[in-house]
Amino acid sequence: MDDKLLNEMSKLIFPDLNDSDTIESLEEMFPPRNLPEGAKVTRMAPSPTGSMHLGNLYSALADERIAHTSKDGIFFLRIEDTDEKRKVPGAVEKIIKYLNGFGLFFDEGATADGDLGNYGPYRQRMRAKFYHIVARKLLLDGRAYPCFCTEEQLEEAHKAQESAKDNFGYYGKYAVHRNMPSEEAIEKIKNGEKFVLRFRSLGNPVKKIPFKDSIKGNLELPENDQDFILLKSDGIPTYHLAHIVDDHFMRTTDVVRGEEWLSTLPWHLELWNACGFKRPRYSHTSQVLKFDEQIGTKRKMSKRKDPECTLEFYYTAGYPRSSVIEYLMTLLNSNYEQWRSANQNADYREFPFSSSKMSASGALFDIAKLNDISKDVISRMSADEVYLSVSEWAKEYNPEFYSLISRDPEYSKSIFSIGRGGKKPRKDFACWSEVPAFISYFFDETFSVDSNEFPANISVSDRKAILSDYAKIYKTEQDNNSWFETVKIISEKYGFTSDMKSYKANPDAFKGSVADVSTVLRVAVTGRQNSPDLFAICNLLGEEKVKARITAQS
Ligand code: GLU
Repeated sequence: MDDKLLNEMSKLIFPDLNDSDTIESLEEMFPPRNLPEGAKVTRMAPSPTGSMHLGNLYSALADERIAHTSKDGIFFLRIEDTDEKRKVPGAVEKIIKYLNGFGLFFDEGATADGDLGNYGPYRQRMRAKFYHIVARKLLLDGRAYPCFCTEEQLEEAHKAQESAKDNFGYYGKYAVHRNMPSEEAIEKIKNGEKFVLRFRSLGNPVKKIPFKDSIKGNLELPENDQDFILLKSDGIPTYHLAHIVDDHFMRTTDVVRGEEWLSTLPWHLELWNACGFKRPRYSHTSQVLKFDEQIGTKRKMSKRKDPECTLEFYYTAGYPRSSVIEYLMTLLNSNYEQWRSANQNADYREFPFSSSKMSASGALFDIAKLNDISKDVISRMSADEVYLSVSEWAKEYNPEFYSLISRDPEYSKSIFSIGRGGKKPRKDFACWSEVPAFISYFFDETFSVDSNEFPANISVSDRKAILSDYAKIYKTEQDNNSWFETVKIISEKYGFTSDMKSYKANPDAFKGSVADVSTVLRVAVTGRQNSPDLFAICNLLGEEKVKARITAQS
């Protein structure tokens, strides 16, 4: 190829560059990071579309853990905003806010109003020159060329490939502008014809490249033969070129990205080599799947079908961030649960995260499992912590409930201390939005009794008599035993035995047992048959309120 002509062409294609814009200048501007051996540099590279879903959090957590499990590792944020149409204002703030909300913090990268770090800019739109520098080098090396094919021509080629049962794309005999003489290309550019810049592949897909993915393990990939696009006609890079340029000059050591990129990985491998850059390690994460009851198989989670796919869902429902993270950790690393049972109180960050322990075939999301984990997480919180988190959630998502619980914080904290602590703490709720219904009877405004809740085996007259007797003698007791003695006395009086052994041996000999009487009292005081410890509830409500509630039902 004629160097002079290539030079001329490069000047026409890259009028924004001058002679000092070289790869070497970029290497100098963005030198290898001065980090200890083994430090990992990972990035999250979202498009600023404003929609954040569970899959994003799942891979961000993997990125963050891989970086921060290594000493002095770096986790940074790069905004892939090359597609102007998909850009949504405020998206960057949202991405940062959501991840911070889940306890994930970037060390470097795009911030709401600028950049933090020495390897930026961290928004692709602001990096045009860097892409052009690398693209120009490829052009001058004979590894890129302008292609003037129109949409229609490409469509025709596509049809021809379809009927010939050939692979799709721009390669081999279909790469019609690959060998266009430079003079002709220069002429066309001068005439203002639209073109894209394509990569000139030298690969042969019959040949296989051994490749080790940190998650998928050892793979065999066909060599690439596609002359894929590097720069679009407006000079904006495709993902492929931007990926190599950014991850090289931002000195990423580990590219963690969705497995949908595996199919174009051979393109990237060839491009790394053509640029002469040392490539990073790759970890291709599998998709988050869900078992679909209706079709009876696993499928990809979908924003349209699964409300739990969006991160908004976890905020609205009020899942503690630690529960979601805890659950995602179990999905991310197969040995996490085992570690957790041996280290019950440890922070999840102490877990030795490893990409090799990530599922190669797909992580199955199961909300029931998340709920179990969350109940566990909440059961280990202190009453104060629960109060604070519920308040924070309610303030935003349930203001009415917020005004109830914030009226007397000490009272609310006492509600949350019932059944907390001890060896077997209660596991009542999985998320904060379940709390209002659960504790409604602690507030007169939300307390009500449906008489159908009273046990059916107790006659209305017995029930009323029990309640009216109890209202007369009820007083706040210091301990559970003396309280229960009173309940027993009333039970015996109406033929409900307090001797559970005899009752079990011969239930027909009695009207019922003390358990039935307790249920009557429980329904009168709480409106429901199941509740935490009734003695504790009564003490907290206070004598006056308990008496009033019982009298109202007698
Ligand atoms: N912007 C790309 C995406 O959202 C980034 C993929 C990557 O991490 O390299 O899919």
